[in-house]
Amino acid sequence: MVAAEEQERIPRNFITDIIDNDLKNGRTDHVATRFPPEPNGYLHIGHAKSICLNFGLARDYGGTCNLRFDDTNPVKEDMEYIKSIERDVRWLGFNWQDPIRHSSDYFDRLYGYALELIDKGLAYVDELSPDEIREYRGTLKEPGRNSPYRDRSPQENRELFEKMRRGEFAEGTACLRAKIDMASPFICMRDPVIYRVRFAQHALTGDKWCIYPMYDFTHCISDAIEGITHSICTLEFQDNRRLYDWVLDHISIEARPHQYEMSRLNLEYSLTSKRKLNLLVEKGIVDGWDDPRLTTISGLRRRGYTPASIREFCRRIGVTKQENTVEMSALESCLREDLNAHAPRAMAVLHPLKVVIDNFGSEGVTATEFTVPNHPEHPEMGSRIVTISKEIYIDAADFREEANKQYKRLKLGAEVRLRHSYIIKAVSCDKDENGNVVLVHAEAVPNSAGANVENHKPKGVIHFVNAQDCLRATVNLYAPLFTDPNPGAAEDFMAVVNPESKTVLADAALEKSLADAKPGQAYQFEREGYFCADSKAFAAGKLEFNLTVALRENKKAAA
Ligand code: ATP
Ligand code: MG
Repeated sequence: MVAAEEQERIPRNFITDIIDNDLKNGRTDHVATRFPPEPNGYLHIGHAKSICLNFGLARDYGGTCNLRFDDTNPVKEDMEYIKSIERDVRWLGFNWQDPIRHSSDYFDRLYGYALELIDKGLAYVDELSPDEIREYRGTLKEPGRNSPYRDRSPQENRELFEKMRRGEFAEGTACLRAKIDMASPFICMRDPVIYRVRFAQHALTGDKWCIYPMYDFTHCISDAIEGITHSICTLEFQDNRRLYDWVLDHISIEARPHQYEMSRLNLEYSLTSKRKLNLLVEKGIVDGWDDPRLTTISGLRRRGYTPASIREFCRRIGVTKQENTVEMSALESCLREDLNAHAPRAMAVLHPLKVVIDNFGSEGVTATEFTVPNHPEHPEMGSRIVTISKEIYIDAADFREEANKQYKRLKLGAEVRLRHSYIIKAVSCDKDENGNVVLVHAEAVPNSAGANVENHKPKGVIHFVNAQDCLRATVNLYAPLFTDPNPGAAEDFMAVVNPESKTVLADAALEKSLADAKPGQAYQFEREGYFCADSKAFAAGKLEFNLTVALRENKKAAA
């Protein structure tokens, strides 16, 4: 285990530099981080970057990482999301410091800190409407204007805030604002709203509250309450760091967390906005949040991604302040490396064409079972039995009546090796009325099963399954979900959805051993790619496989 941990250690970056300095200078003697998802959607590959960093730092520095649900917006949150997030974090291979935290655990204390600000003359109840607040806020070029309610006395503000809490103000008619500076060059410092009225059931606090604290007020205080030392977020919160510090400077709380910002992960051909992902799900463009075409964690899992490949990807992209977009191939190659090393091999014929071995059963062509390794380089992964009979299926693309010398598969008059089995030669073929080949007659070379035979040197190897005992299954092939590599930037991301992102092969033929396939476990279908059993179909008792990733970048494996 130590070796694996060493291997996965986060490579040095500006945040590890900061931590090293803090430890050296004595600002802190330990590392405490947190991962703070808002439970308003499923986690995606961007969150994986944040998870690997926050939990990874805790691991590398012998510290702790909390899982904290940032549940300050009762309207958008849902238990389904909470459960999915816990599962995804665990599946990625991380454990949080018990217990799970929620911003809502701190609602009482947050309320107390709001009163403290009020009493210090640093917060006031504003009765401007949301539109007026926006208008008074000014712009990047023009300073804001003070609200006419800004100079109420602490006494009056306390009474009004308590009134808010009792539900005596309708939504949008009153809010609590921090009294900072309406002329600040940072708009987030122009008297930000820190509490608003929302008559909504909260997943955990029920109807105890009808006022809810805003993110900027909640996050810094939650970090301080939990003793977080390094609070890492994405760059769009850079300006808000001033507010983060302002709040902690003005309330009576001892701990002093610091916020650091890194660039978000943007991945080609994928969306990392929960709002947009939600639309794809709601409109039925994809089959749920775990559709194998989505780069949600649950989609990647259903697609056959391994946790190790996602962690390795996050290690490789690194942590910086530069905005960039990572190519899909970077993620896929981490997966391919992992699966090449660890995925069991199997044979599957995606476009079955029947071949009859006419001399099957005659002398030297009687072996019907072969014991073959599950992985060519890992004997410890065991072996399985591959069977053959007079009738087999090969892929339609592996046979041609005539072809030049480059074609190393089966053609009339030429020999090819069946993977793990006999050498066969095609002798004739039958066609339907449209001229499509529907059956190939072949002859096996006697005693060639898994052995060399003098004067028979086939140039190629093709895979096959036994027509008598193979499994019939649906196989889903996938292409990118979007036609535009940057769908998030498209004016209408729905307009760049790829109508051909999924191809269903309804009648693939799989070797018998795949009856035991467990969903999530990817196999290398020899010469075809990596595939895994679909969890939803599996739960419904159906055998259905998803393309996980092609054998090679950008092209389907050929010859
Ligand atoms: P949205 O704005 O779409 O609702 P979010 O990005 O704010 O989502 P959160 O649930 O608040 O999502 O995110 C939890 C944590 O994950 C935050 O610390 C956030 O900075 C981080 N995170 C989210 N998306 C990315 C990303 N693409 N790259 C890196 N970190 C991310
Ligand atoms: Mg957020």
